[in-house]
Amino acid sequence: MHEMSVAISIVEAAEARARKEGSGVISEIALVVGRLAGIVPDALRFCFPAAARGSIAEDAVLVIEEREGRGVCVSCGASFPVSFYVAECPECRSLAVRVVSGDEFIIESITIEEGE
Ligand SMILES: [Zn+2]
Repeated sequence: MHEMSVAISIVEAAEARARKEGSGVISEIALVVGRLAGIVPDALRFCFPAAARGSIAEDAVLVIEEREGRGVCVSCGASFPVSFYVAECPECRSLAVRVVSGDEFIIESITIEEGE
């Protein structure tokens, strides 16, 4: 499970951003995680409190928006949801499928509460 190291890098990135904007603590971190990003949102939620312990993100709420993967068939042009990199076109059964989205892993926003 590599979610622990992912959680730690999220906390580090959030802290760096917060420091740049001055003082304060982080109250919310919003992420976008694609289904093909190789990250299990539940595992990330589980690891986050331990990763954030002792940091200014300790009390932050982790909001995770999951995005489905989408593939486009190179043979017939059909577009459909995919859950794996190897997918079969539901229209023509071709395996020439290009994954066009779903592997994103983005820190969408960080909410910082102004401290004293
Ligand atoms: Zn097709």
